[in-house]
Amino acid sequence: MSSKIAFIGAGIATSYTLIPFLDNFDKEKRTFLELYIVDKSADFFKGMPYGDRSGKSVLLIQDLKNFISEPHRTHFKNWLNQNVEGLAQEFTEHGGHYALDWVKKNSPFYNKGEWDNLYIPRFFFGKYIEQEVLQRIEKLEAKNRLSIHYIKKETVSITKKQEEFKLVFKDGAHLLVDKVILSIGSLPYKELYKKPIKNDLKSLYIKEPYGVGMEENMSQIVNFVKTRNAKKLPTKIAVLGANASGLEMIYKICDKLPLEDYNTSFSTLSSHGVMPDGTFEPEKANSFKPKHLMDLAKKENITAKEISEATHKDIDEAEALEIGAATSVGIISKGFGALLPKLGEKELLNFACFYGNQIGRRQRCAGNHYLSVVDELSKRNRFQHIKGRFLQLQENENGLEVSYSSTDKNSEKMKDSEDFHIVVNCLGSVNLMAEDLSPLLKGLITEGLCTPNPSQIGFHIDEKMQASENLFVAGPLLAGNQIEDKIFWHLEHCVRIIWSSNVLSKNLWASLSEKVAV
Ligand SMILES: Cc1cc2nc3c(=O)[nH]c(=O)nc-3n(C[C@H](O)[C@H](O)[C@H](O)COP(=O)(O)OP(=O)(O)OC[C@H]3O[C@@H](n4cnc5c(N)ncnc54)[C@H](O)[C@@H]3O)c2cc1C
Repeated sequence: MSSKIAFIGAGIATSYTLIPFLDNFDKEKRTFLELYIVDKSADFFKGMPYGDRSGKSVLLIQDLKNFISEPHRTHFKNWLNQNVEGLAQEFTEHGGHYALDWVKKNSPFYNKGEWDNLYIPRFFFGKYIEQEVLQRIEKLEAKNRLSIHYIKKETVSITKKQEEFKLVFKDGAHLLVDKVILSIGSLPYKELYKKPIKNDLKSLYIKEPYGVGMEENMSQIVNFVKTRNAKKLPTKIAVLGANASGLEMIYKICDKLPLEDYNTSFSTLSSHGVMPDGTFEPEKANSFKPKHLMDLAKKENITAKEISEATHKDIDEAEALEIGAATSVGIISKGFGALLPKLGEKELLNFACFYGNQIGRRQRCAGNHYLSVVDELSKRNRFQHIKGRFLQLQENENGLEVSYSSTDKNSEKMKDSEDFHIVVNCLGSVNLMAEDLSPLLKGLITEGLCTPNPSQIGFHIDEKMQASENLFVAGPLLAGNQIEDKIFWHLEHCVRIIWSSNVLSKNLWASLSEKVAV
């Protein structure tokens, strides 16, 4: 058996496909494989969140027990225990005073091997997962059973002629392979502003948090604020989107530019007007019941829409009782999760494509280490949350003007705007229908190799996880699908990536065996 397989994108979706795949291959005695690992960045096997583009001073969104499933978690914790000293040192070297606080607060726990409740630096996981993949590759290479090629290039098109895929890279080079795994992570960020900035002292626009790299963004922000500070000018910063990336940007800016020394103020803009929540309140959790979901459970024939409506009513009630997402998310997820088996196949997919993400957006959680920065800003009256939907951005004589339509019921104005000096776009991704979709994705759709499913954020796949014959999909682009007995409206959480990538590795393996049988 010989087959040329290309993985486009080398994040953790590829790593967790390769790990079981190579383990399986190692047990098979007679075969040889040729693998091509393509990534436009140098973050091979770590990907965007856990590699250099995110930097070495940012934390996981969840605590470790919710980030990674067993048996992987125990394995990772053993590795952490062996390496923690060097890792903590690297972390403090790259972070500011908040990184030192993190070590001071968390070392009593991790020194005893108690990792489960900690929100650990993301690069710890990146280092671990890279080693896990490389060990397997080196073992098979030493046995002359695997030939692996690393291609650090952007793939701009994939076409298929007869049985062969042609991958074309940004520099014009190309590659022919038998199978492709499309594993390029989440869809690209929305482009909000394309014009050049006219006034470098008054306006700075950060078009996405991680694209050029978090550290590069930070150095631009730091230089900008320092220049203004030297002229005794205050800096108003708008973070568009109150999600984990938005929170991370605020944390990073305050870590680099201590609040005592720099005259900064922050605003976030989001339609729900709520920041992620980090405090679990056991008493409230004990008393809160998702009544609407419980009532729906008594009904026989239900639809995805009814589950969604009941869930939103229960979230409304939790909010009215001032019960935050960190407390209600488990109860509400359990409530609607128990109703999903009542749905038929079509309604299940409706839930995955249309309703799941809307619920997720109202139930965002984060760690208190990040959130304490927002609390500190609020206490100093240097933070506001604008409840609204972004309309447009333009440069004016004061800086950058953000216009939005208000989603605040108490607001008298339908539309409003405010001027800022720095605007950071954390508004999230385009969908697969967007005009400014990347040439790679546009081409895959027009060539008929991939078809968007109704979620518009994922591609339709068959039962083997192929978008079309021998073109497999991994990671977030699987949203809006059923895989085995599970539906997915969102495939970014590491636990789901591990699970789906494991299924993919089995399908990929089976497809190689099919080739032998022919
Ligand atoms: C900043 C950030 C923090 C996150 N934190 C968490 C967390 O704490 N917990 C959690 O569970 N999830 C988190 N996530 C969700 C995250 O999506 C998943 O955890 C996971 O990393 C996704 O893995 P992936 O391999 O699918 O994508 P990625 O890690 O994005 O990897 C895809 C790779 O494809 C490459 N690529 C893209 N297009 C091309 C192309 N055309 N040609 C060549 N290469 C290409 C990219 O360079 C990238 O390296 C976070 C996401 C982000 C962005």
